[in-house]
Amino acid sequence: MIELPRTHHWVVANGYRVRVAAFALACLPIGLHILPRGYGPGIWALLVLQFLIYPHLMYWGARKSGHPERVELNSMFVDALMCGAWAAGLGFPLWISTAMFLANLLNHTIARGASGVLFCIAAFAAGALASTTVIAFHVSTDTNGLVTLSSMIALAVYLSLIGIEFFAYIRQLHRVQDSLDQQRTTLEGANAILHDQIEKIHDLQEKLREQANRDSLTGLFNRRYLEGTLERELARCRREGAPLSMVLLDVDHFKLVNDTYGHQAGDEVLRVFGQLLLEHARAEDIVCRYGGEEFLLVLPKMPLDIAMERAAQLLKIFQETTVLYGDLRIRITTSIGIATTPGHSNTADGLIRCADQALYQAKRRGRNLVMTYGDGAPRDGVV
Ligand code: GH3
Ligand code: MG
Ligand code: MG
Repeated sequence: MIELPRTHHWVVANGYRVRVAAFALACLPIGLHILPRGYGPGIWALLVLQFLIYPHLMYWGARKSGHPERVELNSMFVDALMCGAWAAGLGFPLWISTAMFLANLLNHTIARGASGVLFCIAAFAAGALASTTVIAFHVSTDTNGLVTLSSMIALAVYLSLIGIEFFAYIRQLHRVQDSLDQQRTTLEGANAILHDQIEKIHDLQEKLREQANRDSLTGLFNRRYLEGTLERELARCRREGAPLSMVLLDVDHFKLVNDTYGHQAGDEVLRVFGQLLLEHARAEDIVCRYGGEEFLLVLPKMPLDIAMERAAQLLKIFQETTVLYGDLRIRITTSIGIATTPGHSNTADGLIRCADQALYQAKRRGRNLVMTYGDGAPRDGVV
């Protein structure tokens, strides 16, 4: 079939190819049919106009249209109309009429689906009717063997051409489908890798966040984390009308531990004390390494008296703990200062200051003591 420049819409190009082929094929049996009947030159001119020139005229009309699909459907309607008119004009020769009707039926059903049958019948019948208003209705269904044969061949060739077109079209579709499948598989692979990487990045971010909030020696929360959460905990307790206690612990004479046993032994003491604090904390407590050998506990919803009991308990535990480091057995004590909201202060800074002052008092009064802010009496930790 004819190859057209790709500047035209594929519907127009397809319609043109099909129309040129179909009408050219119909030309021969019709010519053979009218030849022995001795019609004048007018009918031959009409034949050439209809079957050889008409398809090109339709193409010239359609190629510039902004609605190629609609124009092509209209053209198909005109095709069937014309074929109906020719069939009636020739007296419904059986093979010619059948071949023309079937070719039109095929085109209409391909373009419109089941409703194409009705459109084709309507157009074909309208053409036949129009023709009988100009030429008297007559029926002469018989055709000679040559016309029958050429009609059969024309129909067979036309059906083959449509079949070949469809084969190429479907093969093309399969290729596109295969390539889409491949691309989808590749994309799915890339997507999975991307998801993996995103998950890894999230994990790393989580680890980094965690590391940024943790003290590397003891694994406890660090001061940075405390700054972010203390205000929040205070606000929460304030909202719920609950107290919040703060316990500040400082290892006694820690410098001496370093000086006597070495810095690494000192590190081990800090690790062990940090672990002990964690073991004796509730889930909602914040256990934090506040400075070198200072630890801080934030105890939400804990009143002063309970905090004092907890502190005294810790004091006893530390006092009774022997830290083992190589052959060394290290015993050490701590001093503890406590402050509580709302009695001592309502702000984070104020509370830390109060706890620090209480700790200072504990140190001043001889160490290995629990003191609360503003409380002159030391607590010796014996519960
Ligand atoms: P006090 O009873 O008054 O608290 O005396 P102290 O010796 O514990 O307090 P001081 O502030 O004089 O000394 C604290 C020491 O803690 C000094 C510092 O070298 C040591 N230190 C701070 N951070 C670390 C650490 O991460 N590891 C070790 N091994 N020592 C540390
Ligand atoms: Mg200190
Ligand atoms: Mg100390």
